[in-house]
Amino acid sequence: MASIQTLSPGPAPSTEAVERLAAKYDLRLPRYTSYPTAPHFHPGVTARTYGDWLAALPAGTKTSLYLHIAYCAEMCWFCGCHTKITKRYDPIADYLDALLAEVDLVADRLTAPLDVTHVHFGGGTPTILKGEDFARVLDTLRARFGLSDTAEVAVEMDPRTATLDYVKTMAKAGVTRASIGVQDFEPQVQAAVNRIQPIELVEQVIAWLRDNGISEINMDLIYGLPHQTTESVLKTVDRAVAMRPARVSLFGYAHVPWMKKHMRLIPEDTLPGASERWSQYLAATRRFRELGYTAIGLDHFAAPDDEMALALAKGTLHRNFQGYTTDTAPALIGLGASGIGYLPQGYVANEGEITAYKRLIREGSLTTKRGIALDDDDIVRRAIIERIMCDMAVDLDQVAHDHGLPESSFAAELSAMEPFEQDGIVTVEGSLIRVTDMGRPLSRAVCAVFDKYLKAGEQRHSRAV
Ligand code: SF4
Repeated sequence: MASIQTLSPGPAPSTEAVERLAAKYDLRLPRYTSYPTAPHFHPGVTARTYGDWLAALPAGTKTSLYLHIAYCAEMCWFCGCHTKITKRYDPIADYLDALLAEVDLVADRLTAPLDVTHVHFGGGTPTILKGEDFARVLDTLRARFGLSDTAEVAVEMDPRTATLDYVKTMAKAGVTRASIGVQDFEPQVQAAVNRIQPIELVEQVIAWLRDNGISEINMDLIYGLPHQTTESVLKTVDRAVAMRPARVSLFGYAHVPWMKKHMRLIPEDTLPGASERWSQYLAATRRFRELGYTAIGLDHFAAPDDEMALALAKGTLHRNFQGYTTDTAPALIGLGASGIGYLPQGYVANEGEITAYKRLIREGSLTTKRGIALDDDDIVRRAIIERIMCDMAVDLDQVAHDHGLPESSFAAELSAMEPFEQDGIVTVEGSLIRVTDMGRPLSRAVCAVFDKYLKAGEQRHSRAV
């Protein structure tokens, strides 16, 4: 697939333009880590459906695994993840037993060996597992899924709880990539979100990882946090880049206190407004590029020789529940409470409530709570949305052709681009839509035009910018 993305930095938009667009497009939109998006999953996809889908996977299907470790030692007030706080290890050990039993249940449903190439530990805090338990999980995956020795094994890490011994255990167990949660280096911001981690701590953990052969380092930053300014976000970007991470994600903080009660601890008057958020995002994007990083889609940056930057250039970048990925596997098996995945037939989400999850596992059942089977229309719209989110461009006629549809199949959506074009968010040439640099933070709004499930006001998502 040839890439059609455009990534020239372009001139900085004026403050007036930013303010006008921020006011106009302060929408609540999905992040399009899947299409259809998770709120449209339904209970009609059951454990039995999932079992049938797993059994139908042909031998050698390239497959990824996602393991959700649903515990943390302390709550960060910006957190939107599915996690539970505990100071004791007993609940974690119980959860681990259920998780390992789920690995067996899923592996037992398969009728042919798969080719597992990626494993991602997310959470919560995966490194809350004791070192020996973490290694045991990987041993079990190797035994049950025939995980290859060259598989990428990525782990989300909280530097506050990392130790040198733990890093050594990770390296020995085959971890190849670590994603370090940083968010912001400013002490005032860290205090306001209940996550104090001095920069020296992050530097130390990264040094340990590199010294032990875990050289692929990702860093997670957030803009739109309390007390952040464009200047302070730029300072954090500079400090992050000084540590030479291979990839950086820069998410917009999604303030959804009606869904996540702990977010009420963040006073709303300390949060930057829509136009300030946009300015933080654009300034950070420019700074990453000035420092030699490649802008990836909506919210990632990669060193120019990183696989993700290369995938972008080749047009083979993908988007999944973890964000952007070079993983091209058609199957992602989600494990753990709230684990979410996809198979060629559709999406599947596990029970998210830990007690119910463990009970189902004890009963010998897969824990599928909801999902959605894909029809042909979903598949072609997913392809369009994925290209917009990854490449910031899509040729509608090309995608239609690739899916056996006539040209102009998306004429109505193409016409709906007109206001976006007038606002400088996209350019349109024939059936080719390109999101401009200024429009990049609004790419979700462009995708929403192709989302047949989304009705205005139906649900509240996070801000588009
Ligand atoms: S460590 Fe990560 S998952 Fe846990 S509360 Fe903080 S942000 Fe959320």
